[in-house]
Amino acid sequence: MDRVLIDNIVKKVITEMNTESLSDKKEKITAGLGVFDSIDTAIEEAYTAQKNYTAYSLEQRREIISLLRKKLINFVDEMAERAVIETKMGRKADKILKNKLAIEKTPGVEDLVTEAFTGDDGLTLVELSAFGVLGSITPVTNPTETIINNTISAIAGGNSIVFCPHPSAENTSIWTVQLINKIIIEAGGPKNLVTAPMKAKKENADILFSHEKINMLVVTGGTEIVKLALKSGKKVIGAGAGNPPVIVDETADIQKAARDIVNGSSFDNNLPCTAEKEVLAVEIIADYLIFNMQKEGAYKISSTEDMKKLENAVFKDGYVNKELIGKDAGYILDKAGIKFDTVPKLIIAETELSHAFVQKELMMPVLPIVRQKSFEEALKNAICVEHGLKHTAVMHSQNVTRLSIAAKEMQTTIFVKNAPSYAALGFGGEGYSTFTIAGPTGEGLTSARSFTRKRRCVLSGGFSIR
Ligand code: NAD
Repeated sequence: MDRVLIDNIVKKVITEMNTESLSDKKEKITAGLGVFDSIDTAIEEAYTAQKNYTAYSLEQRREIISLLRKKLINFVDEMAERAVIETKMGRKADKILKNKLAIEKTPGVEDLVTEAFTGDDGLTLVELSAFGVLGSITPVTNPTETIINNTISAIAGGNSIVFCPHPSAENTSIWTVQLINKIIIEAGGPKNLVTAPMKAKKENADILFSHEKINMLVVTGGTEIVKLALKSGKKVIGAGAGNPPVIVDETADIQKAARDIVNGSSFDNNLPCTAEKEVLAVEIIADYLIFNMQKEGAYKISSTEDMKKLENAVFKDGYVNKELIGKDAGYILDKAGIKFDTVPKLIIAETELSHAFVQKELMMPVLPIVRQKSFEEALKNAICVEHGLKHTAVMHSQNVTRLSIAAKEMQTTIFVKNAPSYAALGFGGEGYSTFTIAGPTGEGLTSARSFTRKRRCVLSGGFSIR
């Protein structure tokens, strides 16, 4: 038998063995450490905690966040493992990296920069102060990362935060909230600064959206839940769905573009909202790009029959088949009944622009590639398939003028040039990290300052030293 085939079988068996032994671990959730029987109690307790927290100094906030970073990093392996086992989505190794990003690169108190105006009439300060109690809805695709990221941003800003996790990530989310509380208390912080209801159910969102003690909502998820939150009448940070296109023109470094696209699109099995979801390649380089993507670990669908099989697996009753979201490419090919030799990172398929693989956010390692006559056509169509979500776009090109035109015209919150999409999250790209990218409401890549209110303090007639 071929060596690669044996390796793949061994890998598959080990994964299955791990999955079985880990699923045995599913423990019963018990209340305590920020977790309460009802969402109402979770909100009331977070309210009391926030009142206590106002007495803490900025230095104490820093100490709490510093201990969170120091201790949480020891749990990244377990976070990733729990999430993969419970949600049945994504890849453990990539989730470890995402959790590291959330822990290490979410800005803390230093993000709250004061503005000052001085002159003949004295000194005016604009300070970023707490909103109060925040209500956060978190997605199944980043269950621990979003909780960690939103927690650091919230408490750096002086807030408490109530989480309503996705029902399919209940245990993992509750475990994370309890772990965070344990560390906050160890750092001398108030109890219940971070809370959640014991049962993760969608009805919790209605209570969160209408509760008088919730001062601001942070909603990370699909379009529907962001729209619902916007009807609440509260201030909302809405971080919704994306469908990131990748443009590759004839001036690009094609080998690097192929590697970056395969790595970005297969990262955590395409779960990130920022991950490459369709490629628009200028036709003269399309074949060479596909050839190189295959060299980088992509499996190309090469017959109409296999394409039909893949479509039948990916869609169920006209909707994206939830069972395949975040699954490995090999698993998807198996389900589709398509034979392969080496387990691929990604499945690629040439399609028309109108194909549902292009138009819908699949969140699985299936990447459609559409040939385009020119850069101009690719840009026009990239804008179209992004559906006005204003989320993320990627481009591979050496032509600075074109890169600038595309960045301007795409109007996305994130535009990545010549790198995998995850560079935008601070992984191989400059800048801080976030797991709440607020396109619809405009905060962009959120941080502590997004979770605060601006307040002006005026001293008339003094303190100007000019
Ligand atoms: P989802 O919209 O199904 O669920 C997100 C959260 O909203 C969950 O906690 C869920 O329980 C809740 N929810 C959804 N519909 C609800 C309803 N009708 N009533 C009450 N609560 C409801 O999304 P998901 O599958 O968890 O996550 C994937 C989606 O999130 C993708 O569309 C992805 O692009 C998006 N996302 C966006 C960002 C961002 O920063 N912009 C980050 C991660 C994920």
